[in-house]
Amino acid sequence: MINVTKTFLPDFDKYTQTIKRSWDKAWITNHGELVLELEQKLKEHLGVKHLFFTNNGTIVLQMALKAFDITKEVITTPFSYVATTNAILWEKCTPIFADINNSDFCIDPDKIEEKITENTQAILATHVFGYPCNIEKIASIAQKHNLKVIYDGAHAFNSLYNNRQLLQYGDISTCSFHATKLFHTVEGGCIITDNDEIAHKLMLLRQFGHVGDNYYSEGINGKNSEFHAGMGLCVLPELNNIISARKKISELYDLHLKPLSLQRPNSNQHLVYNYAYYPVVFDSEAALLKAKEKLQENGVNSRRYFYPSLNNLPYLTGQSCPVSESISSRVLCLPLFHDLAEEDVLRICFLLTHE
Ligand SMILES: *Cc1c(COP(=O)(O)O)cnc(C)c1O
Repeated sequence: MINVTKTFLPDFDKYTQTIKRSWDKAWITNHGELVLELEQKLKEHLGVKHLFFTNNGTIVLQMALKAFDITKEVITTPFSYVATTNAILWEKCTPIFADINNSDFCIDPDKIEEKITENTQAILATHVFGYPCNIEKIASIAQKHNLKVIYDGAHAFNSLYNNRQLLQYGDISTCSFHATKLFHTVEGGCIITDNDEIAHKLMLLRQFGHVGDNYYSEGINGKNSEFHAGMGLCVLPELNNIISARKKISELYDLHLKPLSLQRPNSNQHLVYNYAYYPVVFDSEAALLKAKEKLQENGVNSRRYFYPSLNNLPYLTGQSCPVSESISSRVLCLPLFHDLAEEDVLRICFLLTHE
């Protein structure tokens, strides 16, 4: 079976040697030396001022809403993983969906303003599949209406926009380091800001709202462990190799799927892509289902990322996003991981291009 993703695992001895540093001290969580080292390396790698390593990429969305005291309406994208919407609901805020554009599948800035009411407090948008949202337009709308911009950057690690890491943009940016993501720490995530005051709040939110015996605010347990940080320290140096392998595979798909003329997210001239996913959009849902089934019968697992359109989650009602609903019903992510063999890529392409 070829899965849609496969986790990159570093050399086992290198991993055990790394975590031995914490093991020998029996200091395996609570901001140990590996967590601090990973945070430092990530800050340098991403070129950001404040970064907190956390236990996943969902809690950071909740922490972002908390840090800005968001309690009312949040304008968000309907085309993302369900965690983006659920974080808003979990924080007892109201998700207001602005449709995506048909070009890069990110939130359409021209649909945002019509959704703004006196209760709107923030925009939470996803750089879906690692393609950038329209950062300039979103920033100017936010400024005009005094809204916070939070980017769910779970797919955005190492995508560069205007020669800067995409994760640098927004009032807060978050990432997921789950095992299925491009850069991973088994489970994990991070939250990024360049605002000192917000960083201080995030520091407290991550650790129950207290430092030692001094209690300052509400808080939750968003910390991550030494064993997770150790994985990150071993995966980070391999990142360039991982991305170039994925780039080669993506280009093979491009070449051999060309006869099908499938829709793909439009790249952006200011983007250096991270090859986080390989989504294709079929002409109809029927064509998608047929292709998915054929792959499945031949031992190839593909995934309907992202379906359903989040405005149509069964526990939400009454909002319509025709573009997102249309893309969601027709999009399929093909297998993409560092050591996917060329012959397997060719076989997948053959299955898709032949009746
Ligand atoms: C994976 C993902 C998340 C959640 O990350 P976890 O680390 O699994 O909690 C959030 N948003 C998006 C867009 C994701 O793809």
